[in-house]
Amino acid sequence: MSERQSELQANLESVHNRVHAAFRARGSGDAPTLIVVTKNFPASDAQLLYELGVRDCGENRDQEGSEKSALLTSDIRWHFQGQIQGRKIASIASWAAVVHSLDQLSHAEKFATLADRLELPEFFLQVNLEPERTDRGGVAPSDLLRFIESLPQSVYGKTIGLMTVAPQSMQAAQAFEIVAGLSTQVRTAHPTLTCLSMGMSGDFEAAIAHGATHIRVGSSILGSR
Ligand SMILES: *Cc1c(COP(=O)(O)O)cnc(C)c1O
Repeated sequence: MSERQSELQANLESVHNRVHAAFRARGSGDAPTLIVVTKNFPASDAQLLYELGVRDCGENRDQEGSEKSALLTSDIRWHFQGQIQGRKIASIASWAAVVHSLDQLSHAEKFATLADRLELPEFFLQVNLEPERTDRGGVAPSDLLRFIESLPQSVYGKTIGLMTVAPQSMQAAQAFEIVAGLSTQVRTAHPTLTCLSMGMSGDFEAAIAHGATHIRVGSSILGSR
């Protein structure tokens, strides 16, 4: 095993141990899915992670995700979690199995136009807890139900839950508690939106405590760049 692979293995093991401890402490639901965020790292690292058993990788940019997914074996599920650009939607849909960052109806409509040509990815709807900050992606909590009800049917049928990034301005645990509450509210009208994508290197334990089903972890495993 190369030095890099040993390093990735040790980091991965340590994150797995922390995930399992947080999950045991929560005491309910299924173990969260760990998405290893490979953005800014080469495809060779994703290949080493694959050899270590990783099957879910996350990317923020269409071009990078498209290139890496083409280089690697096809049984990796690629997750797109970056800001969506309208003109990249057909490309994103060609490689991403899951899109975590849907937050505009115009984008949902573009995905919907592809539905008779390919299998659409699954979608998380990104929630923005700082709606006054428009440079951040996400739907404002007060707009969420209306947003869901306006989704084209083909996209709605593939929508599995909510995603958030904890804002700097509040405690991560507080942010996750709010989004978990929104998720409960949403599920009374939309019972299929059961998943919660929240938690990154700095805060995934708090996210798991508040019911995360998917966590997105980069630097704790790959290092920082
Ligand atoms: C980069 C990124 C991550 C991973 O962040 P780390 O702090 O490196 O674990 C997760 N989610 C999103 C949306 C990101 O942009």
